Amino acid sequence: MSWLHYRELDRLLIQLRQLYSSAEVSNELRGWSWSGDLLSPPMENVYLGVSELANRYCPTYRDIYLRRVAGVQAPITFKTVRGWVYHALSSRCSSLIKSKLYLHGLIRGVELIKILLEEESNLIDSIIEEYNVKRYLDSSKVEVLRRNMRLLFEYFIVQTAARLDSVICEVKYAKLESIIGKVVPQVAEKLVDGRLIGLSRELRIDIMLDNRVIIDIKTGDVRDFHKYALAGYALAVESDLEIPVDYGLITYLSIVNNHVKIYNKMYFIGDELRREFIEIRDEAFNILNSGEDPGKPSSCPEYCIYYSICRGE
Ligand code: SF4
Repeated sequence: MSWLHYRELDRLLIQLRQLYSSAEVSNELRGWSWSGDLLSPPMENVYLGVSELANRYCPTYRDIYLRRVAGVQAPITFKTVRGWVYHALSSRCSSLIKSKLYLHGLIRGVELIKILLEEESNLIDSIIEEYNVKRYLDSSKVEVLRRNMRLLFEYFIVQTAARLDSVICEVKYAKLESIIGKVVPQVAEKLVDGRLIGLSRELRIDIMLDNRVIIDIKTGDVRDFHKYALAGYALAVESDLEIPVDYGLITYLSIVNNHVKIYNKMYFIGDELRREFIEIRDEAFNILNSGEDPGKPSSCPEYCIYYSICRGE
C-alpha cells in the first residue's frame, strides 16, 4: 500500500542486510527444495493455512485438533471481524487509488484526496456488507468499526496523496504509468499455492514488494509468533514461483485515541526461522495423524481464540 513509509522500510532493510550480510539461507530450506527430507509434507492431500500454523497461541496444538479433527470453529469475535475489514480496506484502497489515477491522470495530491473522499462511505458500507459484519456484531460495535475504518481510510489517502506529490516533484518527466508504480507499486493480496509444502492452495500474502519483501498486516497485539507467518509465506512463494524471499515485515495497524498507529517489525527469514516454522507444521500434522486430543496446557492465554471453548467461559 502507498501508506507504507518507504524511507523507514529502506532503513530497516539496510540495517537487516548489514546484520545478516554473511548469513545465507541453506538451499535445503528454500521452498523449491520441497521434495527434500526437510520440507516435504508429512501427509498427502492435507493442507494447512499459514495463519493457523503461525498463530501459536496454544503450546499443545489443541487449536489444530479442535478445528481440524473435532470440527469446532473458533468463535467470531470483534477482533476477528476487525481483522477482516481492515485487511479488505487496505487492499481495496490500493485498487481504488490506482483506478482513480488511471482515470484522472497526474492530478495533485489534494485533488486525489477530494476524489477519494467521495468514495469513502460507499467503500466502507460495501465492505461491512460483504463481510456480514452486522450478523456478528451489535450496532454499537459496528459503529466503532465504521469510525475506525474512516480513520484508516483517511490516513491511507492522505499518505498516498503526499507521496504522489513528492514523486511528481522529484521526477523530471512524469509518466503516468511509472508514477503510479512508485505510488502504489506493490502487489496487494498476492495469491500463492502452498500445496507443495503442505500449505493451503490459495494463500494470500497481504503485500509483496517489488524487491521481494513480503508484508503481513496484523490488526491485533504484537506477538512474537507472528514472525512464523513470514517463514510460511516465504517458503510458499519459493516453492510455487521459485523466487527467493529473504526478508519480511510485520506491519501492526491500530487506532489509538482516534489516531492511526503503525508499528513495523522486519525479519530476516533465515534458516532458524524456517526450521522453526517447519517444526510447527510437522507437529500440527502429527496431531491430524493421531486424531487424538492433545489436552490443554497448564494455563491458557486469555487472548487465545478458543479460550471460551476450552476454558468454558
Ligand atoms: S484455550 Fe488453551 S487449550 Fe484451548 S486452544 Fe487455546 S491455549 Fe490451547
